[in-house]
Amino acid sequence: MRLTRSQALFETACKVIPGGVNSPVRAFRSVGGTPPFLVRGEGAYLEDVDGNRYIDYVGSWGPMLFGHADPDVVQAVQEAATRSLSFGAPTEIEVRLAELICALVPSIEMVRLVNSGTEATMSAVRLARAYTGRSKIIKFEGHYHGHADFFLIAAGSGALTLGQPNSPGVTPAAAQDTLLARFNDLAHVTQLVEAYADEIAAIILEPVAGNMGCVPPEPGFLEGVRALCDRYGIVLIFDEVMTGFRVARGGAQERYGVRPDLTTLGKIIGGGLPVGAYGGRREIMEWVAPQGPVYQAGTLSGNPLAMHAGYAVLRKIADTPDLYDRLEAFGAALEEGVRANLKALGLELYFTRVGAMATLFFTGERVVDYETARRCDTQRFARYFHAMLEEGIYLPPSQFEAFFFSTAHGERELERTLSAQRRALMRAFS
Ligand code: PLP
Repeated sequence: MRLTRSQALFETACKVIPGGVNSPVRAFRSVGGTPPFLVRGEGAYLEDVDGNRYIDYVGSWGPMLFGHADPDVVQAVQEAATRSLSFGAPTEIEVRLAELICALVPSIEMVRLVNSGTEATMSAVRLARAYTGRSKIIKFEGHYHGHADFFLIAAGSGALTLGQPNSPGVTPAAAQDTLLARFNDLAHVTQLVEAYADEIAAIILEPVAGNMGCVPPEPGFLEGVRALCDRYGIVLIFDEVMTGFRVARGGAQERYGVRPDLTTLGKIIGGGLPVGAYGGRREIMEWVAPQGPVYQAGTLSGNPLAMHAGYAVLRKIADTPDLYDRLEAFGAALEEGVRANLKALGLELYFTRVGAMATLFFTGERVVDYETARRCDTQRFARYFHAMLEEGIYLPPSQFEAFFFSTAHGERELERTLSAQRRALMRAFS
């Protein structure tokens, strides 16, 4: 595989952009090598500047539920673009998108649209603090909620990959109100809550962790956290930026039957354009300005292109009754094939999947939290990653990321992926 033009671009990029990228994990630091510079995406496929083609399992880190350049989404954006790129004033499409979000996720009675997942989680925490009159929050080790200062403590994803869970620049004051809990360890969460009962405004978590690899909640864990929040008057925030509309039509909260007070969304609701959202119980959301006192704003919030893209995606989600059955069928077939490959090669690696997100962990142990995720053999993963890339399979360049698939992934892609995987695993373990 030739990456000549990508290499040249990356060298230039490194001179003018820190690390050559606009988001750390894209630089391939944890797997080494040069990231392909992409020019085109169509359905399940990507093409780079050197003309290499890949089957995509990153999906822009989640948004591409219907694959790249979905004609309905592209048309909606093109039409909107001819009428102005931005107004900074109310538009009908914002109302329609908000209505659809509330209809698809019943715990969301009111919603505020923002420009990224980071903005959504940051604003949700501010709101929870104002509403409860308390300062502390509990977050979980290995969970990532964007890059606001008070979240950059044992965060997953790029922070995990880089081995820099605590970023310089985050002041002790910003960190002191964040308490850390172990995912899937209800006894630990209970201890923390009891120790700081009157000071905790919110518990925020990824209901299915995706930023230390895909780690599902253990049975009863989410219910247990919900009960603790009820008992101590704590706002429960589900960060569904990744899981929203991916693991079920109504997100992880529908899949596991646990209702949070607030939910944060992103990725899929923008269809590939920058959108985030936070919403939930009316009584809490009414605290948001200008209805209430909690300030939060954005020049480009509700941007018409982003709203039209998001609406086109959610409309398809709402109007395709068998959508999640189709994703589940592909996921189940992929899972079966991966397990067959592992068995044929005599490898004991831990594979997790929830709906249309999954991870192959390079460890034989069950992964249930940050500690167990960290035991993976990341060097072996790097070899596997590069072997897959050479086979034309584009995976997230980190062991600690979930991979995603879309409705554009079908029989052909499945077969190619599985046979490539057999060879890649052989090379990684040779
Ligand atoms: N929350 C979760 C669960 C995420 O996965 C991410 C991004 O990957 C974020 C929040 C931050 O979203 P954004 O990158 O849009 O700021």
